[in-house]
Amino acid sequence: GNFVPPIRNNGGSTSNMTSRVIGKNDDSMGDSTRKCLEMLCGPDGELPEKLRNLEPRLIEHVSNEIMDKDPNVRWDDIANSCQPAIAGLEHAKKCVTEMVIWPLLRPDIFRGCRSPGRGLLLFGPPGTGKTMIGKAIAGEAKATFFYISASSLTSKWIGEGEKLVRALFGVACCRQPAVIFVDEIDSLLSQEQQTDLKNWMKQHGGDLQNVYIFPFLHQARAWIIRNLLEKDGLFKLSEEETNIVCKLTEGYSGSDMKNLVKDASMGPLREALQQGVGITKLNKEDMRPVMLKDFETALQEVRPSVSSSELGTYEEWNRQFGSLA
Ligand code: ADP
Repeated sequence: GNFVPPIRNNGGSTSNMTSRVIGKNDDSMGDSTRKCLEMLCGPDGELPEKLRNLEPRLIEHVSNEIMDKDPNVRWDDIANSCQPAIAGLEHAKKCVTEMVIWPLLRPDIFRGCRSPGRGLLLFGPPGTGKTMIGKAIAGEAKATFFYISASSLTSKWIGEGEKLVRALFGVACCRQPAVIFVDEIDSLLSQEQQTDLKNWMKQHGGDLQNVYIFPFLHQARAWIIRNLLEKDGLFKLSEEETNIVCKLTEGYSGSDMKNLVKDASMGPLREALQQGVGITKLNKEDMRPVMLKDFETALQEVRPSVSSSELGTYEEWNRQFGSLA
C-alpha cells in the first residue's frame, strides 16, 4: 500500500504514451497479448487501474520475459558462498531473511521501528550466485520473481527504459508479494556517478546493506561438485580426490565450477563412444562414473572467469562498504 515506484511520473511522458484501457473488443491486439492481459485482470474482468495507461506490448514483455512465477531455487541449493568461511552464508541469510523475507511475509509486523531498510545490494564477481540468492528470496517468501538486467535498459530498450520499468513495477504491484531483482545495476552509472554512489553510501550506509558474495572457498567448491554430480547419481569421487579438484580450482566461481562439472561429466560418455558403440545403441549402465582424470581433462578447457585483479576490486569495495566491513 505504501509502495512508491522508483520512477517519478513527470506528467508529460504519460500523455505521449499509447494509453489505452484494455477492452475485450480491441481488435488491434494479438492473441498472446490479450491472453497475457486477461491473466492480469481482476475477478471483475477489468484490468487493474495501475496497468491501464501502460502499453500492452510492454506488459506482455514483462509477463513473458521478466516474470518468473516459479523461481525454483531454495537456500539449500546455494553453496556457502560468502565470507567469512563459516559465518558468511549465515550472515547473508540473516540479512536477507530479516530485510526482505520476513517483511514480505508479515508486513503488519515490519512497520515503524521495524521498517525494513531501503535496499539490499548483493555485490561480487559474476557467476557467484547473486541471482540465485534473489530467486531463493522469492522462493522462500513465496513471491513472484522479476529479473531485469539494467544493462538491457541502456542497450536493448534505448529510449524506452523508463516505460519498461514502469510496466515492470505495475505488473509487480498486481503480483504481490513480488521480488524485483535488478542485475548489473552498476551499468547504469558512469564512472563519476559511481564515485557519487560511494559518497551516498557513506552517508546512508545504515539504510542499505551490502553483502559481499564470494565464491572461491574450498568447501563451497567441493559442495558444488558433490551436489551437481549427486543429482545425476554420478558422484563417486573419494574425499581425497574431491580435495585435489578443489585445490586445482582456486579462484573458480560457482558458474565456473558448474561448467567444469558439466565438462567432466562428458568424460565417461566420450570414452564409451570410443569403444565403437554408437550413441543410439549406448547402454547408460555401461558408462563408468565421473573420475578425477575427467576433471583433470576438463580443467584444460574450463578456466576461471574472474582474474585476481578483478577480485581485488571487489575486496576493496567490501572493505569500504560491505556489511561485515
Ligand atoms: P551471479 O548472479 O552472481 O552472476 P548466478 O546466480 O547467475 O551468478 O550463477 C550462475 C550459475 O552458477 C547458477 O545458476 C548456478 O548453477 C551456479 N552457481 C553460482 N554460484 C553458486 C553458488 N554459490 N552455489 C551454487 N551454485 C552456484
